[in-house]
Amino acid sequence: MPDSIVELEERLAQAQTLIEQIDALNDLAWSLRNYQTERALELAQRACEWSTNGEYSAQPYSLGAAMSLITRAYIDHRQGKLDLALDECFRALALVDAEKPGRVVIESLRLISWIYYYLGDHPNALDYSLKAVALARAGGYRLQQASVLDALAMIHAASGDVDQALNEHEEALQLAREVNDEVLEAIVMNNNAYVLLEQKEYARALERGMKSWELVRRLNLNKQRSDVADTLAQILQQMGEPARAEQLMLETLAIDRETQQDLGQAYTLLNLGGLRFSQRDFARAEVDFLQALEVAARIGARPIQMDSYHSLARVAEQKGDWQRAFTYHKAFHEFYKELHNERTSQRMSILKVAHQVETAKRDAEIYHLRNEELLREIEERKRVEQALQELAITDPLTGLHNRRHFFNLAEALFNQAVRYQRPLSIIILDIDRFKQVNDTYGHLVGDQAIRHLADAIRHSIRLADVTARFGGDEFVILLPESDLPHALGAAERMRDYVATYPICVAEASFHVTLSIGVATMQYSGETMDLLLEQADRALYAAKNNGRNQVQTYRAF
Ligand code: GH3
Ligand code: MG
Repeated sequence: MPDSIVELEERLAQAQTLIEQIDALNDLAWSLRNYQTERALELAQRACEWSTNGEYSAQPYSLGAAMSLITRAYIDHRQGKLDLALDECFRALALVDAEKPGRVVIESLRLISWIYYYLGDHPNALDYSLKAVALARAGGYRLQQASVLDALAMIHAASGDVDQALNEHEEALQLAREVNDEVLEAIVMNNNAYVLLEQKEYARALERGMKSWELVRRLNLNKQRSDVADTLAQILQQMGEPARAEQLMLETLAIDRETQQDLGQAYTLLNLGGLRFSQRDFARAEVDFLQALEVAARIGARPIQMDSYHSLARVAEQKGDWQRAFTYHKAFHEFYKELHNERTSQRMSILKVAHQVETAKRDAEIYHLRNEELLREIEERKRVEQALQELAITDPLTGLHNRRHFFNLAEALFNQAVRYQRPLSIIILDIDRFKQVNDTYGHLVGDQAIRHLADAIRHSIRLADVTARFGGDEFVILLPESDLPHALGAAERMRDYVATYPICVAEASFHVTLSIGVATMQYSGETMDLLLEQADRALYAAKNNGRNQVQTYRAF
């Protein structure tokens, strides 16, 4: 364990004021995240409580709460709880001023980028890491800059821009060495080895992989050890040493299971299956791929789901099971279309150009920003005032976002859609004659109906969609990258789900129905409010037209 942890323990013991204690708790939790997950979580939890209770119950210490959220998000994302981690990052961003370059903001953006990368949403991944790298560069945060460059390199590699990826890795490595961070050096070298492996540069990949391996062993980095073992195993397999490769993969799988790293587990299972497939051990390969698919589906990691289906199709072909091969191929193609469509690559090139312009502009502004940096500390304290309201972001009955937090999240997505002329839709829905449910069965059963509706929504939307309970029996969903047919499809699925599945309570089982209004961006100067109003008017049309139906704003 590095010396800095011992220093941080001391700093915590000697902290005088509550703020000093919270900051020390958070810094220690963050530093322990790769070594002692449980303790890191416990410290972060305490930091969060101290930032929002007692002395800070009236005016929470927002930076303290945000930092603890980031530590939790980091741990959750490694454990494959990708949507939870994403939510925690957005909550952290909502607590601090996202326009100001600070460690919390950069770290949130970087984590969001990684999560989108694992989810297979490369445009969003690129967008967030470009923002993070620009902020890190401008603010002179070299450590953060190095780790964002690492993420950026992986996104570029995944989208075929290998030269760019290799350059970014070199820059990241150099920065990591400058700031003397061996953990980061090990992580970057492993990722770099992976990119080289994909390029079939096995000798260079092995050299980088081995250096990373030495570092993670020396530093006792259990979590990273499984990542590096996985890379090395794949390199060894390609270099014709399948027995050593299999041994390493099995060890990796054991570490992943022990440390509950679902994401790592899914990758390893996929690789293990690949190895066994190449050994023509189709029965065991199939078991590995099915397990990889199961874990990946549970955490929503679409790229791994896609690869699993592809591999399963190949196994089925080998077994002569053409029916099954066809089914798997179809599933593979669905994912392929989703992840590699034309719009995705168009959006990525728009983002890259925008970034080049922005970088040039920012270089000129760096001096100015450094001065601003001095004011940051003071302003961060002022922001504490708003934090209490911002902490309340979830609707307790359904666990969905509440109205205010919806606007927090929706605004950025809306502006993005306007800026890049991307499709975007809004759905508003309301339970039909809900008062009768309350009157007939009582309020508790009414509450159950509201939760049932929240389930229906969760079943019908994508992870990127933002859902909130607007109040009472009314819900709103913002669907980025969704045109009218797509939004109508989602709305119909919700209406159908609720109409099909009854609400079961001890004494009765009954149905409710929904009226739904849909509005889509027309790029004629709409504001977020106007779009909401249009969806609301469509909802009223649905009510007036007899309820249990979907209406679009266009219909008038
Ligand atoms: P309509 O088809 O026109 O929507 O009829 P409605 O009866 O659903 O009318 P409206 O949407 O205006 O009324 C919503 C009702 O929802 C009013 C209130 O009794 C009930 N309600 C609001 N919040 C809650 C809640 O948290 N729990 C329960 N059980 N009922 C709620
Ligand atoms: Mg209603």
